[in-house]
Amino acid sequence: ADSALQAIEAHAGLNAFLHVDPQLSREQAKAADLLLASGQAPELAGIPIAHKDVFVTRGWRTTAASKMLQNYTSPFDATVVGLLQQAGAVSLGKLNCDEFAMGSGNENSAFGPARNPWNRDAVPGGSSGGSAAAVAAGLVMAATGTDTGGSVRQPAALCGVSGIKPTYGTVSRYGMVAFGSSLDQAGPIARHAQDLVELLDTMSGFDERDSTSLESCDGTANKAGRIRAEFNAAREQYKAAGARPLEGLRIGVPQEFFNEGLADNVAQAIESALQTYESLGAKRVGISLPRTKLSIPAYYVIAPAEASSNLSRYDGVRYGHRAASYSDLADMTSRSRAEGFGPEVIRRILVGTYVLCHGYYDAYYLQAQRVRRMIANDFQQAFAQQCDVIMGPVTPTVAKHIGDNREDPTADWLADIYTLGISLAGLPAMSIPCGFSAGPSPLPIGLQIVGNYFREGQLLAVADSFQ
Ligand code: GLN
Repeated sequence: ADSALQAIEAHAGLNAFLHVDPQLSREQAKAADLLLASGQAPELAGIPIAHKDVFVTRGWRTTAASKMLQNYTSPFDATVVGLLQQAGAVSLGKLNCDEFAMGSGNENSAFGPARNPWNRDAVPGGSSGGSAAAVAAGLVMAATGTDTGGSVRQPAALCGVSGIKPTYGTVSRYGMVAFGSSLDQAGPIARHAQDLVELLDTMSGFDERDSTSLESCDGTANKAGRIRAEFNAAREQYKAAGARPLEGLRIGVPQEFFNEGLADNVAQAIESALQTYESLGAKRVGISLPRTKLSIPAYYVIAPAEASSNLSRYDGVRYGHRAASYSDLADMTSRSRAEGFGPEVIRRILVGTYVLCHGYYDAYYLQAQRVRRMIANDFQQAFAQQCDVIMGPVTPTVAKHIGDNREDPTADWLADIYTLGISLAGLPAMSIPCGFSAGPSPLPIGLQIVGNYFREGQLLAVADSFQ
């Protein structure tokens, strides 16, 4: 733990970590040593990890990268944090992210942007930017992230590492600072797909403390072992198939993912990844997800609506920031919120409150929910009739420079086009590295692989055969 903490210190310029506590990490490392000495250590014993700062942790502060929670320490651990600790993983601290996970570049953190290890002038992606940066820089072997509309896949893509968002409901949200509850889902980030198998398998499982947690995944109990078993079975099958391991796998390639906004270098990297898959025996099938464009307005109605409701708990009374001076109770709440929340969070609360207003609710929120259903149906039709997995880009371009989108904060919203529909549908999806931009300062490009509900094991096996 000590040498890992020294490396974190040496890379402080990345601003990937918001909070380390050598004492706590050493205690966890000692416990892992005991497990290892016992000869029956679980798979993750001694593996250095860190958590996105939206998972509450006993001991380490949990800020959600917001001034609102600057001094908050939770009395309990998030389910995900507890499960990874039980499996022997050693936490090195808490990772930078966008404030309340709202953003795509980690530029909305109240504690300054995290930086991309490939080029420190570039964003690492968001909102789990510190998680991807810490893994890419080799500071930890794995990190937790959360994905509401792309926040695991997108930073993984922009930092050249791998990340998976599982089917909604398979990983407990208990102890995750809430953003958009019907979309929020935790997932791991690590270097290779194979590393993700054990992490996701450990993190997932039914949790009665999360009301949307699933007891069963397609008839199989939602518990540790499910994903590993599916991964191993798929891998055995691929191995037995010999030179063309993916023979018979149908890859759906949505035409809408190759639109005018997609940069040439990203399009080329995706094309060459698809050719590699074809050489492994997979078959490419052109598909259509006609409502892809609508995923942006639908998401940016639903997510802010849920956020405005979730964030109403920060009232300056129970926990979080409280203004130093105020005239009465209402003034205290409004000053505390105005001081505690950053501009993007305030923008989301305003949008969310507006679309939920009496008189606008039907026109915006209800309409967005209808579109959400149609988007989910489009994916189901493709999986039922045409393909086993879907592949395409994660982001339209490689990582932008820090500050590039400062003039127009909604430019970031438009760049979420390839990830939002999948989140609205609740499907599992991942990002694996598939290339670099050309030039003197190359930046990574990610390939997105989407599966049908509960097919995390298959997805990881498909990703593993590429890597
Ligand atoms: N970029 C999206 C947003 O800003 C997604 C963020 C996320 O997945 N947490 O809402």
